[in-house]
Amino acid sequence: MSESPSTDASQRFDVILIGAGIMSATLGALLKELQPDWEIGLFEKLDSAGQESSDPWNNAGTGHTAYCELNYTPRGADGSISTAKAAGIAEQFHVSRQLWSHWVDEGTLGSPRTFINALPHVSFVWGDKNSQYLRDRYEAMKAEPLFSHIEHTEDLDEIGKWAPLLTGGRDPQQKVAASQFSDGTDVDFGAITRQLVGQLESQGVDLRYSSEVTNINRGTDGRWELKVKNKAGGQKYTASARFVFVGAGGGALSLLQASGIDEIKGFGGFPVSGQFLRATDSAVAEQHHAKVYGLASVGAPPMSVPHLDTRFVEGRRSLMFGPFAGFSTNFLKSGSYFDLPSSVRPHNLLPMMQVGAANTSLVTYLVKEVTKSHKKKVGALQDFYPEAVGDQWELITAGQRVQVMKKNEKGKGVLQFGTELVTGSGGSIAGLLGASPGASTAPSIMLKLLERCFPSQLEGWRPKLEQMVPSYGRLLNEDPKLLEEVVASTSRTLQLDD
Ligand SMILES: Cc1cc2nc3c(=O)[nH]c(=O)nc-3n(C[C@H](O)[C@H](O)[C@H](O)COP(=O)(O)OP(=O)(O)OC[C@H]3O[C@@H](n4cnc5c(N)ncnc54)[C@H](O)[C@@H]3O)c2cc1C
Repeated sequence: MSESPSTDASQRFDVILIGAGIMSATLGALLKELQPDWEIGLFEKLDSAGQESSDPWNNAGTGHTAYCELNYTPRGADGSISTAKAAGIAEQFHVSRQLWSHWVDEGTLGSPRTFINALPHVSFVWGDKNSQYLRDRYEAMKAEPLFSHIEHTEDLDEIGKWAPLLTGGRDPQQKVAASQFSDGTDVDFGAITRQLVGQLESQGVDLRYSSEVTNINRGTDGRWELKVKNKAGGQKYTASARFVFVGAGGGALSLLQASGIDEIKGFGGFPVSGQFLRATDSAVAEQHHAKVYGLASVGAPPMSVPHLDTRFVEGRRSLMFGPFAGFSTNFLKSGSYFDLPSSVRPHNLLPMMQVGAANTSLVTYLVKEVTKSHKKKVGALQDFYPEAVGDQWELITAGQRVQVMKKNEKGKGVLQFGTELVTGSGGSIAGLLGASPGASTAPSIMLKLLERCFPSQLEGWRPKLEQMVPSYGRLLNEDPKLLEEVVASTSRTLQLDD
């Protein structure tokens, strides 16, 4: 066992990817196709790929197309519904569908059924105010080509045809409303990750499991030097690369801080863990075939919107309800309680304190969630599925999300619920913070990374990129004919029409 760091030629790479989650897997697969001669190393601290947030039981598996997630279509101060954010997310999911289709055609991904399944996306609300909101949202979305196929109803029997669990035993006097897109999806991001990583290994990527990156420094020659610890044997060594992607999920903040890049200054992380109720009775799961999203309760962060979801994992159907938020100071499921305290730096302390002071409703919400009994969790489920029986549901712990805290343009700390691509040192290092809409949009995020970090290669790569993603660089919402073509071809390849 060697205790002192050592470097040799076999540890020199063009690119090092840290972490074997969906982000690194996607970037690795893109780079392997665009620049097959580059030497790539992939270092993962666990003993296999896709075990953290990308694992199917650690996330909700929603192919986020902004079809059912009501937080993407807020009502503005003037009373109108804004569809801008929803359109942006739908555009990104169509990029994912195109890239995954390309990889299915190329044999990089296996049978589509192993990772994506057609599943209607439904939004469901109750009460007069919420029903009015959903009706206004329907009108606003219908006007956008991306969403023009939306269906809407306020009829209980009709909703029962879409999702019978929602209506059985429900008070017929209760005002309810639902909107539906029949072309939503459930995605097993863990399966995509593992298939891509398997393919990378077969293409010669140096894949090292049980290999934790503990530090990153820029050498005098401009290369990034990474300290790596082999967790199985205990050896420590140094590996270097011209470009590093910190795809370490919840572990990204501390590694980017260690790199010393200016661009990470002011960023902090706020961990929120997720729990789901999962139906133990397959007869219950068989009665539901949709992802049904509701409205978040007051003070709840957007990613805590309750939803009742059919899931397809390893060929089996199941039914989940949640998420319920939990609090832990870990940044990864496999992380340490010291993750949060050790991420505090002089440059992010003030923004973090400002976030705490400005988000008391979030703190109150979290305290309520953490202390919620099984009975109360089942009560929340019964708002959706009135005939739910508590002992037919088990609690499972999902992944950790580390929400981004950063300074806004006025220098004040704010909590942000999206993902943040951080690039530094002339584009020689990049990392991803945050969680939502997350895995669904991995292809768009990684394409953005290529544009920011490899501007001089981009023109040469463009023809290949346009082959991989036929709509590359264009907006489908502005080109209904292209939208129609893309939807038709990806539905065919991903077997979403069958
Ligand atoms: C409860 C929950 C629900 C979600 N629901 C959805 C959803 O419905 N749809 C959706 O699109 N997204 C969803 N997401 C978000 C999505 O899961 C994530 O955005 C996505 O999986 C992140 O992928 P990643 O590759 O960045 O990180 P991860 O999958 O977490 O991978 C990071 C990897 O890096 C490794 N690592 C960490 N530190 C080191 C180190 N120092 N050295 C080496 N390796 C390291 C980890 O072990 C891990 O394997 C959800 C997330 C959660 C938590």
